[in-house]
Amino acid sequence: MPDAIGLPFGDTADFEAADRGLIDAGDPVVRNEAGQVIWDNGSYGFLTGEAPDTVHPSLWRQSTLVARQGLFEVTDGIYQVRGYDLSNMSVIEGDTGIIIIDPLISTETAAAALALYRKHRGDRPAVAVIHTHSHADHFGGVKGVVSQADVDAGRVQIIAPEGFVEHAIAENVYAGTAMARRAGYMYGAALPRGPKGGVGAGLGQTTSTGTVTLIDPTVTITTTGQELTVDGVRMVFQMAPGTEAPAEMHFYFPDRRALCMAENATHNLHNLLTLRGALVRDPHVWAHYLTEAIELFAGQSDVVFASHHWPTWGTGNIIEFLSVQRDLYAYLHDQTLRLLNQGYTGPEIAEMIELPPAISVHANPAVTAVMASRIIVLIAVPWTVIIVPRASAGIRHPDLDATNVPVRGVGHMSLPIDGRVTREIASALAQLESDGTTVHRGVTHLEPTPPRGAAGPSRDRRASAG
Ligand SMILES: [Zn+2]
Repeated sequence: MPDAIGLPFGDTADFEAADRGLIDAGDPVVRNEAGQVIWDNGSYGFLTGEAPDTVHPSLWRQSTLVARQGLFEVTDGIYQVRGYDLSNMSVIEGDTGIIIIDPLISTETAAAALALYRKHRGDRPAVAVIHTHSHADHFGGVKGVVSQADVDAGRVQIIAPEGFVEHAIAENVYAGTAMARRAGYMYGAALPRGPKGGVGAGLGQTTSTGTVTLIDPTVTITTTGQELTVDGVRMVFQMAPGTEAPAEMHFYFPDRRALCMAENATHNLHNLLTLRGALVRDPHVWAHYLTEAIELFAGQSDVVFASHHWPTWGTGNIIEFLSVQRDLYAYLHDQTLRLLNQGYTGPEIAEMIELPPAISVHANPAVTAVMASRIIVLIAVPWTVIIVPRASAGIRHPDLDATNVPVRGVGHMSLPIDGRVTREIASALAQLESDGTTVHRGVTHLEPTPPRGAAGPSRDRRASAG
């Protein structure tokens, strides 16, 4: 039953799934060569019991699930190392070696994850790496699990969707500095951990801070239905471009009845416009590819796993899980457009959208927690995410000398023609000097041209405008 805030906290199925198949929790701390800690999952040890007042109960619940770490058996011949970075590393056992899916962000965490796998499953050589998509948490650790020399010698295949390198470079090189800085804020890796600091980032606990690498793919997947057999492991691919990443794909292992959904079906509502500045995601396209995945693979799958969070087992559960995820993105898309066409603004829509019970009760309770920030992000303008509450709005900014005019009972569309607003604008404009300086507090001067000779009165007064 839903609790007081409408979320089914009594449903413990996710906790059972997140623990299922645990072989070894491993070491919570990963260091780089210099001995510096670049990952410390043990710092989240405070995540037990009821949520404290400072943390939304849904975020608390999600973080206690996501902070679980170790080597897990997903199904016969498929393993995952979870809780060793923001993302999961999956390992598929072939005839002679292993195929590694998404080697985390850093070489150090990827190497530690592989070592944990090998400790229990033997020193099997990596024969291929699959990158599900073009985000750094799915390729950055590649040189921690294979070497460029092995790839060059043909001993290791690097398999990725069409467009992988172009988009990886666009994000991590062209806009790399800005995006890395923004990712620092988005994932809070430098925050002190605790109920008043870093609690978790939803998809994973946070990002590791080690060495990021990239190896050019040797095999590019271009077509839905394309098949590939590597080391005796058969795979059928589904292209899903323009979803969570511009270059992304799902794939099915027919001999294991297992489906990998990359990052398009996780146990939350994924962000659609990231604070770090990644390309905006289209929920309509996303829903389309989830429908296609259900039609192509779900009925023949016993387990679905992804590169974040825990797997879902059982054909019926898989169809329900993927359907709810699909409905979530489709509903967001459709309702945003419906309200947009009725004349509501982004922030107004963010406050108005409510998930119908059919989606919200079945979906992970984290959905509602993420909704609060993510929907606003969905419809705000990229790069300048300014959220204006519906009830009242004003500007206070250290770089602007703004005059706020109280105007009540007027819709935003009428503001430019409301008498009180136009009077203020006219009065401000009337006091703008021809050289761009102002004589009235409340209007910032344009670049002034200094008058010849002594400074005139307008320049003196400009000082008061700040
Ligand atoms: Zn990811």
